[in-house]
Amino acid sequence: MTLKLYNTLTRKKETFKPIKKGHAGLYTCGPTVYDFAHIGNFRAYICGDILKRYLKYKGFKVNHVMNITDVDDKIIKGSRQKNKPLNKFTKEYTEAFFEDLEKLNINKADFSPKATEHIKEMVVIIKKLLDKKIAYKAKDGIYFDISKFKDYGKLSHVKLEELEIGKRIKADQYEKEQAQDFALWKFWDKDDGDVFWETDIGKGRPGWHIECSAMSTKYLGQPFDIHGGGIDLVFPHHENEMAQTEAATGKKFVNYWFHNEHLLVNGRKMSKSLGNFFTLRDLFNKGYNANAIRYLLLSVHYRQQLNFTEESVKAAENAIQRLNDFVVKLKSIKNTNKKIPPNKKIKPIIEDTRKNFEKEMDDDLNISNALAVVFELVKKINTLIMENKIGKKDAEDIYGLMRDFDSVLGVLETKEEKVSVEIQKLVKEREKARKEKDWNQADKLRDEIKEKGFEVKDTSEGSVLGKV
Ligand code: AMP
Ligand code: ZN
Repeated sequence: MTLKLYNTLTRKKETFKPIKKGHAGLYTCGPTVYDFAHIGNFRAYICGDILKRYLKYKGFKVNHVMNITDVDDKIIKGSRQKNKPLNKFTKEYTEAFFEDLEKLNINKADFSPKATEHIKEMVVIIKKLLDKKIAYKAKDGIYFDISKFKDYGKLSHVKLEELEIGKRIKADQYEKEQAQDFALWKFWDKDDGDVFWETDIGKGRPGWHIECSAMSTKYLGQPFDIHGGGIDLVFPHHENEMAQTEAATGKKFVNYWFHNEHLLVNGRKMSKSLGNFFTLRDLFNKGYNANAIRYLLLSVHYRQQLNFTEESVKAAENAIQRLNDFVVKLKSIKNTNKKIPPNKKIKPIIEDTRKNFEKEMDDDLNISNALAVVFELVKKINTLIMENKIGKKDAEDIYGLMRDFDSVLGVLETKEEKVSVEIQKLVKEREKARKEKDWNQADKLRDEIKEKGFEVKDTSEGSVLGKV
C-alpha cells in the first residue's frame, strides 16, 4: 500500500511520491525561542514526529530539518527586558525545548539550524528578489511586493480582492488574514539595540518568513518533498515562504504541505496570547507523565482539533497503562520456561493486524483508527493469554509486532533494559520471600529494587521488571 497524505496546496489526499526514490525530505517549522513552548506547540511537533516515524516505518530514509527561530520582535523585546544578550537569552529556551522534545520522545531533526547562523543565505535570496524588482526598499526595510507574484494566495486561498496594493506589514505578529507586502529585511532602529547584521542590503535583521526559505532549501534543496507546521502557519508564514522562494528561483518550492490542526482549551486555540496554555513543566507539576501527554497529543487525527482537558490526560494514562501491561505480559511469557505449544491462530492474527494498522496509517495517518487496531489485538491476545493459549514463540512474535508499531507511536516500554546481576539477585530473593509468605521482607526488597530504578510487577508468569 502507498501512503496518502492530505496536501494543503491541492486540498486533496494524494499519494506520496518522493523526489528521490526511497528518500523523503521533511521540513517542519520549529520554535521561536523567547519562552517555554506549550503543549499546543508540542502537538505540532508530535504530528511531525508521527509523520517522520511512519515514513521510516515504510522504509523511507528521512532527512528532517527543523529550524530554530532565534531572532524576531518578541525575542529582541524579551532579551532587552531581561537585560541579556540575544544569544544568552535564546540559549536557555533552546535547551529547554530540546529537553522537552526528549521527554516527549520526539525524535530530534537531522538538522536544527538557527536563523542567526544563516543570515548570509537569506541575504542571497533577498538580493535576487531585489534584482528581479519583486522586492523593494522602503524607509524601514525591504519588502516583498505581493502584486508581483501572480501565484500569491495559492496555498492559503487568502482573499486577494481585499488586497491594498503597497500596504505593508512590518511586524512578525500577524493578526488579520489580510494580504500585504511583508518584510524580508528590517533596517536597524534603536529598539533593536545591538541586534543587527551589517550586510550588502543594509544594516538590520531578517523578517521571519525568509528564515525558513533559506534554511529549508539550504539543507533539502528545491523543490523538496514535505513542509509541515500548525494550521495557523498556512497564512501568512507559509504563503510568504512559498512566494518569496518561488519568485526568487522560478522553481517550485515544496511538493506536499502538511498542516496539523490545533490543540484547544474550552473550544479556543491554546496560545500564549490567550493565556490558556500549559507547558510540559506545568503538567509535570500536576503529576502527569510525559508518556501520557505524548499519547494524548498523538491519539487524534492530525487534521482534527483536539480539546485539552485534564480528564483527557487521565484517559491517556489509562490507555498507556493497558498497552504497557500487555507488553509486560508478553515479555514475561517470552521469558518463561512454561511449555505452551505455539498457537496456529497467531500468525494470521499478526498478519491481519499489521495489514490493518498500515491501511489506516497509509490513509493520511489515520492514527485513531490505527490505535483501535492495536487495542483490538490487545483484547484478542489477552483472552488467549487467560486461556493459556499463548506460547513462548507466539509471545515473541506479538511482542515484535508491538515493537514495530511502537517505532511509530513511541509510547511503549519496549526497551530491553539491562538489569544488573545485583538487581537480578534481589528479584530472586524477593520471589523466595513471597513463596515463603514473608510479605515484609518482599516489600522491603521491592523498595530496594525501586531505589535502583526498577519496578517489580507480579504476574501469573512470575515477577517482571520495568524501569521506574
Ligand atoms: P510558534 O512558536 O508560535 O511559531 O509555534 C510553533 C508551532 O506550534 C507551529 O507549527 C504552530 O503552528 C504550532 N502551534 C501553535 N499553537 C498551537 C496549538 N494550539 N495547537 C497546535 N499547534 C500549535
Ligand atoms: Zn517556518
